[in-house]
Amino acid sequence: MIVIIGNGISGVTAARNIRKRSDEEIIIVSSESDYFFSRTALMYIFMGHMKFEHTKPYENHFWKKNRLELLNAFVLNIDMDNKSLTTKGGNTIKYDKLILATGSKPNKFGWKGQDAEGVRGLYSKQDLDYIEQRSTRIKKAVIVGGGLIGIEMAEMFLSRNIKVDFLIREDYFWNNVLPNSNSKFIMKHFDRHHGLNMIYSEELDVINTDENNEAVSVLTKNGATIKCDFVGLTAGVSPNIQFVKDSGIKCNRGILINEFFETSAKDVFAIGDCAEFKIALPGRRPIEQVWYTGKIMGETLAKNLTGDKNAYNPGYWFNSAKFMDIEYQTYGTVLNQLTEGQEEFVYEHPKQEILLHFVFEKASRKFIGINNFGIRMRHPVFNNWLLNNASIEEVLTDLKSANFDPEFYTKYEDDIIQQFNEKFGTSIIVNKAKWWQKLIKA
Ligand SMILES: Cc1cc2nc3c(=O)[nH]c(=O)nc-3n(C[C@H](O)[C@H](O)[C@H](O)COP(=O)(O)OP(=O)(O)OC[C@H]3O[C@@H](n4cnc5c(N)ncnc54)[C@H](O)[C@@H]3O)c2cc1C
Repeated sequence: MIVIIGNGISGVTAARNIRKRSDEEIIIVSSESDYFFSRTALMYIFMGHMKFEHTKPYENHFWKKNRLELLNAFVLNIDMDNKSLTTKGGNTIKYDKLILATGSKPNKFGWKGQDAEGVRGLYSKQDLDYIEQRSTRIKKAVIVGGGLIGIEMAEMFLSRNIKVDFLIREDYFWNNVLPNSNSKFIMKHFDRHHGLNMIYSEELDVINTDENNEAVSVLTKNGATIKCDFVGLTAGVSPNIQFVKDSGIKCNRGILINEFFETSAKDVFAIGDCAEFKIALPGRRPIEQVWYTGKIMGETLAKNLTGDKNAYNPGYWFNSAKFMDIEYQTYGTVLNQLTEGQEEFVYEHPKQEILLHFVFEKASRKFIGINNFGIRMRHPVFNNWLLNNASIEEVLTDLKSANFDPEFYTKYEDDIIQQFNEKFGTSIIVNKAKWWQKLIKA
């Protein structure tokens, strides 16, 4: 019997892939929702683009058909000696192998008023339901913490004409991840949004409440009082693992695992947002809280449990997101600051909101990574360049082949290359022939 705690992308991917390769009995225990849904789509429900039902990747009959038993219950404790779990309802579930895929929870840093009414993060379906149910009485929201989820929450509120004051501790947006030039570019875009007031270098100190314990204002560390009807807590997420810690499995910020997802307890594995690699892969973080890495972890663990043991190997880093109207993708490694021996080239379109940021090795010219904003680039093409150690010159001359929107390059490819040549004293030219050859072959 394989028991999985958590019906998110990691747990469900593991379950589906084990089922493809084995007839072993599988139970998925999870307490947030009866069925797996796409967490990344929560904002679109609020904005009216889709209904909750549309976020479920599988029909309800899928689970029975594939003999995946679902149990909506909250797990309180793991008894490793007896290989069993206890749920809130008092049930005991035995396992032969246990997979922990319990995800994350929004960070709270002990602010006074953080558990008051009208104060909430955005992670779960319950968070969304809570915000929805209060939304008609929110005229002004304060959002705390400048990452991707905060920006999604701001976009949700703006879509209903709710004004937003957004407190960001740093003086640049998301610059623990983005280089300053990229942050500034995004910050200019935010300035264009009516009703969105970004307040940099400012932190939450206290959430003030009324006699009904409802949030009414925030006090900032610099002493400003901002009136509001809602406080969004979006200062990052952390692994949701309290009961795992209490059960005695070794944890740091997340559940500690090796490259095969093995925890300190026999036959207990951890994947997805809740897991922390004891030794991170080169250039990667020990905890990876994104959708596709949860999926790869689930797929790899399923193989490991069905006789084909593999270490975690997610390939080159990539990610994508949206900052209001600007799409963002990153391929390879672009850190917020260059490291020793690296060089960068940033192209910003003079009129349109488009920015490309390339990083490469100074000496060898090897291309290392790109951040692209306002223009979509093809993942397989960049992955190929990274795998084949392409040089920055090869990437730039053939950039058109990575573009979803070749129109853009017809107009601006010469411009990009010219700027690169001017900056680095090179004389590369656009490889039009190669591009057309590829088209003919296709
Ligand atoms: C608003 C939002 C937008 C996002 N957008 C993006 C994006 O655009 N791109 C991207 O790559 N990533 C995005 N992410 C991150 C991504 O959604 C997560 O990395 C991913 O969903 C994590 O999957 P998981 O399976 O590890 O955990 P989860 O999806 O969190 O699933 C874990 C489940 O386990 C349940 N659980 C926990 N403890 C227990 C217990 N004791 N008993 C029973 N059940 C329990 C939880 O309730 C939860 O349902 C976003 C996240 C949020 C919140």
